[in-house]
Amino acid sequence: MTTTETFQQHVLPTYGRFPLVAVRGEGCRLWDDAGRSFLDFCGGIAVCSLGHCHPRLVAALREQAGTLIHVSNLYQIPQQAELAREINEQHVRLPGKIFFSNSGAEANDGLIKAARRFGHRRAQADGAPRFEVITFQQSFHGRTLGAMAATGQAKIQEGFDPLLPGFRYLPFNDPAALVGAVRAETAAVLLEPVQGEGGVNIATPEFLRAVAALCKAHDLLLFFDEVQTGFGRCGQAMAWRAIAPEIEPDGISWAKGMGGGVPIGAFWLSDRAIDAAGTPLASLLGPGSHGSTYGGNPLVCAASLAVLQEIRERDLAANARHQESRIRATIAAWQLPVITAVRGLGLLLGIGLDPARIPTPAGKTPALVVVHRLLEQGLLVPAAGPNTIRLLPPLNVTDAEIDEALALLHAVLATF
Ligand SMILES: *Cc1c(COP(=O)(O)O)cnc(C)c1O
Repeated sequence: MTTTETFQQHVLPTYGRFPLVAVRGEGCRLWDDAGRSFLDFCGGIAVCSLGHCHPRLVAALREQAGTLIHVSNLYQIPQQAELAREINEQHVRLPGKIFFSNSGAEANDGLIKAARRFGHRRAQADGAPRFEVITFQQSFHGRTLGAMAATGQAKIQEGFDPLLPGFRYLPFNDPAALVGAVRAETAAVLLEPVQGEGGVNIATPEFLRAVAALCKAHDLLLFFDEVQTGFGRCGQAMAWRAIAPEIEPDGISWAKGMGGGVPIGAFWLSDRAIDAAGTPLASLLGPGSHGSTYGGNPLVCAASLAVLQEIRERDLAANARHQESRIRATIAAWQLPVITAVRGLGLLLGIGLDPARIPTPAGKTPALVVVHRLLEQGLLVPAAGPNTIRLLPPLNVTDAEIDEALALLHAVLATF
């Protein structure tokens, strides 16, 4: 039986999978079972921030795997403590505390639970708890019951109602829509500084500032979903700092690139006081309030620590900015009519495509047609929505690798 046949027989068909059978990776390159090599600008969807099998990550995994793989959160875990310190002191640089999960959706669920706790502590005038979290249209926050309800896309929620109540979706990047949007039961606002899955849309500085002002005015928590954008991907340690650096969020969620390929996510809560008594926000999730058996185990924390130290010590965020400007300059010089826009920040870039120029068979979007053609040419990229493809190379991608990918991209896009 081929891998594809075994899949069909034994694995739930939740993904539309390409026929590529991936067997080995090194840096920017991925090999299939027939020995063909691909330039990987999908990177496990913004996960492989150091590329495949980076020696520092592999060494950290080997070392930790031979020492201690897992121990319960009933005990002290030095790698977890060190990782939390690295994130707080070097990447967030605001006082707060971290909970480790195994994915981005779980991290967002943690933020949603924090909003509920906050809404009990800082209740409505009549004593009823606040609970509502405002999110935005075209957002993506994950697939669990909580994160799915937070996601402002009907297609993600289709057939799964009744959804977890307590979410309302406002238009993204529309400061006017924020006016009068807060209700008595509203407790928090959650948003991606750059929407990833929703088509690569950057929040404008005006919009982020209007959201932050709204939160201050109405005693709401401000949460950033940095699951795709965090840790150098957008050219700064955190994406919001590339947009409106003075903002101090109350909560942040991460996953994807923070582990470089090991399953790890996390959420952060600020230490700021939420009342006159000086109660820190981060203290609302005390012993027994939340947990995860695997979350933050020695193996994944040792791996993530190696990844985040490599990103910081080599200033890979600066490389993300450098490569972004090279990519933008090259694509602008092509003047290809099929390209409608280049959106995004750092190495989270979306290339908007003109659907009128791309013949699409039934059931396929223009973006998927292009993704297939690029795969045939040896370049792997994911789509983002129906008319956008994404470039998500590793943060340590070289000039030569970018140039090679752009040449393949040009060869395909010039045919439309
Ligand atoms: C991918 C993603 C998630 C979900 O992460 P999982 O690890 O798949 O649960 C949440 N938010 C954003 C912004 C994402 O890009």
